Amino acid sequence: MFTSIAGRAVVVTGGTRGIGKGIAAVFARSGARVLITGRDSDVARAAAEELNAQALAPRGEVSFVQADVASREDCRRVAAIAEERLGGIDVLCANAGIFPDARLVDMTEEELDLVLGTNLKGTVLTVQACIPALARSGRGRVILTSSITGPITGFPGWTHYGASKAGQLGFMRTAAIELAPSGITVNAVLPGNIATEGLADLGEDYAAGMTAAIPLRRLGAVDEIGYAALFFATDEAAYITGQTIVVDGGQVLPESPEAMAGI
Ligand code: NAP
Repeated sequence: MFTSIAGRAVVVTGGTRGIGKGIAAVFARSGARVLITGRDSDVARAAAEELNAQALAPRGEVSFVQADVASREDCRRVAAIAEERLGGIDVLCANAGIFPDARLVDMTEEELDLVLGTNLKGTVLTVQACIPALARSGRGRVILTSSITGPITGFPGWTHYGASKAGQLGFMRTAAIELAPSGITVNAVLPGNIATEGLADLGEDYAAGMTAAIPLRRLGAVDEIGYAALFFATDEAAYITGQTIVVDGGQVLPESPEAMAGI
């Protein structure tokens, strides 16, 4: 089961660190040929080298391209490079995202534009640029990295972030209908709190507070998001489109702090 990934051409935006790197690692270990993107080429090069060491020979392999998802030109360049290097795109993981905090009362227009431009517009531009290659694949898969924050929960400082992550799901539901005739499915993984470089930037107090609120009592690992993305990409998931999987250790379940008391 789940052997259909070997040899597939996979693009992971924001695959140079954190969750994206975990997704890329899981696909490479399953024998996929993976192209990762990020804005910092040194970080991207190092990540590709590290992931290649783990890839499943002889088919699994990882390369990188420096690109910003907020730029339409960069997204088109990524799609063109994937076609050139990998011969097409079977799976697109639109994962790149940022989560700076800003309270609503004093959020600047620049802060709002940056988060929506990267997380929401970046998702749309990435998917749009890859549609021709995904359609040619005949079994194209788009997997979005959304979040529990926005679609299900809220957290102070993240009105713009929550809107961007909920917006991805609104985009997904219509994109899934529009792209179905081309044999492309569009689904989303909603991570809870996952141990990444980006999450570490929020500080130890944040991580400790979140861990205490998670029934499984630990942060998630990046590979655990990768496995959910991998499932959506398999032949076995061919009939699933426009759907979400929450991967959060049960974080959205407690209806009040009392629900966690004594467990
Ligand atoms: P991270 O550790 O900060 O990694 C973010 C990745 O995205 C890096 O590769 C980064 O590389 C890339 N990136 C950021 N802005 C980009 C841009 N404009 N264009 C291209 N690449 C860009 O973050 P993470 O925690 O793994 O988060 C990844 C995704 O998961 C995001 O969409 C986030 O919303 C979502 N998520 C994370 C968590 C969590 O607990 N960690 C929970 C729910 C959802 P460069 O900086 O070099 O560009």
